[in-house]
Amino acid sequence: MRPELLNPLFAETESLEGVGPKLKKPLEKLGLTRVRDVAYHLPDRFVQRRAVADLDEASVGEQIVVPLTAFEHRASPNSRAPHRVMARDARGNVCALVYFGKASYTARKLFPVGETRWVAGKLEQYDQWLQIVHPDHVAEDSAGLMGYLVEPVYPLAEGLTQPKLAHLANQALDRAPELTEWIEPGVLARHKWPAWREALRLAHRGPHPEARDRLAYDELLANSLALMLVRAANRKRRGQPLKGDGRLRGQLSLPFPLTGAQRRAIGEIEGDMAQASPMLRLLQGDVGSGKTVVALEAMLIAVEAGAQAAMLAPTEILARQHFDTLRAMAAPTGVTIALLTGSDKGRARESILMGLVDGSIDIIVGTHAIFQDTVAYKNLGLVVIDEQHRFGVSQRLLLTQKGRTTPHTLAMTATPIPRTLTLAQYGEMDVSQLDEMPPGRQAIDTRVIALDRLGEVVDGLARHLESGQQAYWVCPMVSGGEHESEDLAAAEARFASLKTRFGDAMVLVHGQLKPELKDAAMERFAGGDARLLVATTVIEVGVDVPNATLMVIEQAERFGLAQLHQLRGRVGRGSAKSVCLLLRGDMLSEVGRERLALMRETQDGFRLAEEDLRLRGGGELLGTRQSGDTPFRIADLDQIQRLLPLASDDAKLLVERDGGLASTRGEAARVLLYLFERDWGVQLLRGG
Ligand code: ADP
Ligand code: MG
Repeated sequence: MRPELLNPLFAETESLEGVGPKLKKPLEKLGLTRVRDVAYHLPDRFVQRRAVADLDEASVGEQIVVPLTAFEHRASPNSRAPHRVMARDARGNVCALVYFGKASYTARKLFPVGETRWVAGKLEQYDQWLQIVHPDHVAEDSAGLMGYLVEPVYPLAEGLTQPKLAHLANQALDRAPELTEWIEPGVLARHKWPAWREALRLAHRGPHPEARDRLAYDELLANSLALMLVRAANRKRRGQPLKGDGRLRGQLSLPFPLTGAQRRAIGEIEGDMAQASPMLRLLQGDVGSGKTVVALEAMLIAVEAGAQAAMLAPTEILARQHFDTLRAMAAPTGVTIALLTGSDKGRARESILMGLVDGSIDIIVGTHAIFQDTVAYKNLGLVVIDEQHRFGVSQRLLLTQKGRTTPHTLAMTATPIPRTLTLAQYGEMDVSQLDEMPPGRQAIDTRVIALDRLGEVVDGLARHLESGQQAYWVCPMVSGGEHESEDLAAAEARFASLKTRFGDAMVLVHGQLKPELKDAAMERFAGGDARLLVATTVIEVGVDVPNATLMVIEQAERFGLAQLHQLRGRVGRGSAKSVCLLLRGDMLSEVGRERLALMRETQDGFRLAEEDLRLRGGGELLGTRQSGDTPFRIADLDQIQRLLPLASDDAKLLVERDGGLASTRGEAARVLLYLFERDWGVQLLRGG
């Protein structure tokens, strides 16, 4: 249960004065549904103004607050021309206050001739005249404006204005209770961080890096702490020590020797599985690094030890692909492998369910269907989760609650993420890295081509398809992912234009396609019936079509490095030489240029991930503090890099000292977990 003192913060935004159904929508668009969200909706920047006695003290271009006296109104002669309030400062300098459109009506009221007003705005020069266009604020005395010397600029959505948001933020801040400190006093002192409530207030009032860092650290600490609690709870669970005797693994006849990295990972997994506490391990390895064999070895350990293993894939098509691969590889061992997906119904499904209960099935591969309530296992010893990033931590927890004992968990991801982010996403797990590619892999020939050479590219594509090979064509994110329909329209247009040339041997895959249809299209491509796959960015991660050896990515500069790397990983899977063409638009930014150059230079996913973080941390996402692929809303990439290792260490220490969160600081940390909705961490405490 959420601590009561947080209730005011978790009230809906409608409980704030001025928020009705009309304002609710734009607030939601900004992700603000509760008072807490408003309190944490921090300004992007601040307008800083200087109060001056007269215009001689100010320079053109400066934001100022100055007393001015109106001496004449020059009304607009037509609707396009502005209304000018001619005014003088204390030294007689003339300055025009310029109002366009409807605002001109208010200008007369604001500036009665002969009276002095304090005006806040940006001083500009027009010909030889000084002017302030649409003053930001006007007041009768200086006191009315001194509060605006530093003014927050909030991220907005349509229907909201700065004053409205400032008004809401003020109310939200007033509702923030005093909370007991959860940060170690030493840490607080070392960074000169203010207390929570004060930090929140300061962060809205002016540029205050310490306050913002503290708030970011809070979020990082909450996340780390929750993950550490998961880890600690997992340690306490009853697992099943599984020691294989090697009898099945010995019968595998792999056509290749394992890489050193694969052997190391298998050793680590073997060590974990032999323990009584359940394994919680992440296998991180770039596309093509050979994770499947590692998973198979792990599953065979379970079977050798008399248990069953389950492998969970995010989509049916991936499940089927794994099923085929595993069955082929494991054939000599004689283990029974079955496939279960959502489309299995009736008899077929029943018989698989029976096989899982009576233990005649050793290994099951499937989608979520393998963890439904109706599915029972004789003795599930190991769960392998492929493409881990599709499952959140809380889902991960649910998956492993089957049976009397907790099965060992091996999560696998092909997304090479930087070390700091690994800590954020998977901090509760031990990590094995496949940082070595199997030998003999051909480098993918990556070229950057200007979009205006599209004709040549299509000709090349035609030759490629004629030679019997297949290809992918990825369409641009027109709207930066904001308007899916526009992306789709662009993809459909491209599909139509390519179709005039290539006819029916094409499929179109996009995010709005129903799963069955998407699977069917992917199937047509995987089977070789379709030669060209045109897609928005949703090409299934992990889909393996070795005959597809050409990848075209339109407006490649719009994609992140990690994403480009993922996409490029679709080719280069067979023995034939593969090519990746990055088509660039002509509006190439410095960062965009650097990105594409890096893609040409390296195929090392971990390196690209680090560079991606560096480039984006450097302001590429200007104005968007949130980054889609971190689990954080407050902490930006720079703060994550600086503060996450620290937060992670502090969380670890806290859990070691006070695993039940029972001390005063522990209690405070519970509140923190609720504040950032990492309460699944707290719930584990009770469950034991
Ligand atoms: P991942 O799932 O990590 O993307 P896979 O497990 O699908 O990669 O392996 C990619 C390809 O590499 C497969 O064809 C696999 O048979 C092959 N492979 C795996 N390990 C080795 C190895 N040690 N040497 C040579 N080829 C390997
Ligand atoms: Mg794979």
